This record gives sequence, structure tokens and C-alpha cells, in this order.
Amino acid sequence: MEELKLIMDGKRLDGRGFDELRPIKIEVGVLKRADGSCYLEMGRNKVMAAVYGPREVHPKHLADPSKAIVRYRYNMAPFSVEERKRPGPDRRSVEISKVSREALETIIMTEMFPRSAVDIFVEILQADAGSRTACLNAASVALVDAGIPMKGIVTSVAVAKVDGQIVLDPMKEEDNYGEADMPFAFVIRNGKIESIALLQMDGNMTRDEVKQGLELAKKGAMEIYQLQREAIMKKYRTEEEEE
Ligand code: UDP
Repeated sequence: MEELKLIMDGKRLDGRGFDELRPIKIEVGVLKRADGSCYLEMGRNKVMAAVYGPREVHPKHLADPSKAIVRYRYNMAPFSVEERKRPGPDRRSVEISKVSREALETIIMTEMFPRSAVDIFVEILQADAGSRTACLNAASVALVDAGIPMKGIVTSVAVAKVDGQIVLDPMKEEDNYGEADMPFAFVIRNGKIESIALLQMDGNMTRDEVKQGLELAKKGAMEIYQLQREAIMKKYRTEEEEE
């Protein structure tokens, strides 16, 4: 079989350059019954995030007298992927939920809400690689929409090694046939990247490639951050004008 070429004449399969994100669309406050919500598309990923809280903890024994607990559920719809996904949690979604929750816990001011819970649900309607990053970006905006006090915003993007080249925001074909994949989430505070809240890696990269990937991810994250900001401002500016 002929080897699949992922990069030709300096362009990727979808025509992007190495340092380009997929198109992003963000809509804030789309669910009436959630305290905060966000619909987000990142390339062919389509995800919906809903935030509830701070609210009473059920079951009660999980309550922490010193701070709010944060719960995060990453869930793929059975129809979101090519081969039907069996409904319900699996090892992969439990792991993604855990690392995503830990990333968001670093920015939520949980100490302000003892004995309560902040629940974040993210449903993937369509997946195309980088779904965990799309979900984190949506969840972060939904948290802002819910008015949860936060120390910053989380912005997430992956980088990959494809045909020996480090590229930003890999899509499905690059994720499947590439050599490595490295998702990041950053805490952005006052318009600046302050820390790394999530870092995973699948495959192998050299030390230099990791460094290069980090710089590329930072650049991508700043672009996503601007779009998150604009989406939030758009909703709240319109509401203010209407009042
Ligand atoms: N995927 C799939 N079935 C699954 C899990 C994943 O088809 O049960 C696809 C899906 O398109 C996903 C991609 O594989 O976006 C890459 O999955 P990975 O585990 O790397 O997570 P992601 O990149 O989506 O955060």
C-alpha cells in the first residue's frame, strides 16, 4: 500500500499551514436550563458544554467543608465517531474527564463555595481529534457564562508530529497517522499565559520537538483565547444594550 502523505508542498491535507488552527465557532449561553453553557466547533469537532452550580452536593457525603468540589464529565455521543461508540463511560473518557477537571480546578475559586459543587458536562456531538481540547475550551467559556468566580480562563490546543513536522491543532487523519500527539491546556490570566494546566503525550518527540510544540501551542492558545473572549463579550454586550 502506498504510504499516506500528510504534508505536501508545505501544506496539510486540509490546506492549512503548520501553525494554523482549524476554523473555530463559539456560541455562549445556548442552553436555557444550565447556569452557563457553550456550543463550540473546532474544525469538525462539535461539542456542547453545560455548567451547573455552585449548587448543593449530591450525594451529600462528597461535600467538602472547606471548598466546592468540581466534577467534569466528558461524554461522546454514540453517533459522534465513525464506528459507533458504546454509550456510557469507558477508560478513555474517565481519564479525559479526570485530567480536564484537574485543569479547570486550578482556576475555579472553589474556596468561596464550601460544601457545594460545580458540575461541568461536556457532550461531544461530532469528534475529529482534539475533542478533549475543544471540550475544555467550551467548558471554560460555559464557566464564565455561569458567573463562577475564576482566576483566569483555560484555553486548550494540541500539537502533533506529522511527517516529521510539528503542526498545530491536528485533525483526525494527522492524529491517526502522525508520529505523536501532545494536547496542552494553559491558564490565561490578564491576557497572558500564566501556567500549563494540562499536558499529555502520545508517541515520541525529541526534546527540541517538545519545545517547538510548546511554542506553537502557546501561539494557538492565544488565538483561541481571543475567540473565547469575543464570544463572551458578544453575548454580554448585546444583553447590556437590550436592558
Ligand atoms: N475516536 C473514535 N472512537 C473512540 C475514541 C476516539 O473514533 O472511541 C476518534 C475521535 O475522532 C477522536 C479521535 O479518535 O477525536 C482522537 O482521539 P484521542 O483519544 O486522541 O482524543 P482527542 O484527540 O479527541 O482529544
